[in-house]
Amino acid sequence: MYNKNNVFYKILKSEIPAKIIYENDVALSFYDICPLKKVHALVITKGLYSNFNDFISNASAQEVKDFFGTVSKVSHILNIAESGYRILSNTGHDSGQEIEHFHVHILGGERL
Ligand code: AMP
Repeated sequence: MYNKNNVFYKILKSEIPAKIIYENDVALSFYDICPLKKVHALVITKGLYSNFNDFISNASAQEVKDFFGTVSKVSHILNIAESGYRILSNTGHDSGQEIEHFHVHILGGERL
């Protein structure tokens, strides 16, 4: 069950600022406020999904394709597509997921 009371929903609605990297119909990408690596970006869905389980169960095949295509596009914009990067998505309690709006982390810019 998606709960609108989360920080990424507020970013989507422009209620709080973010350092935007890229945006299209299905996704919004911005820099993580607390970077763990030289490059640390987030890509969030514009659709309201609470985590990966929710996204993969309820999004259309086109939305899934376009979302992960956006993750790839952002890796190119950040110039880490060739050097390499890690994508990850914390999902649910045991993962330590903090923000219950589906998002993928992109980490790179250095040896991980
Ligand atoms: P998680 O839900 O565990 O995948 O982690 C959420 C991530 O969002 C963390 O890496 C935070 O540093 C990041 N974060 C929290 N608030 C903001 C914000 N206002 N702008 C950008 N990133 C944020």
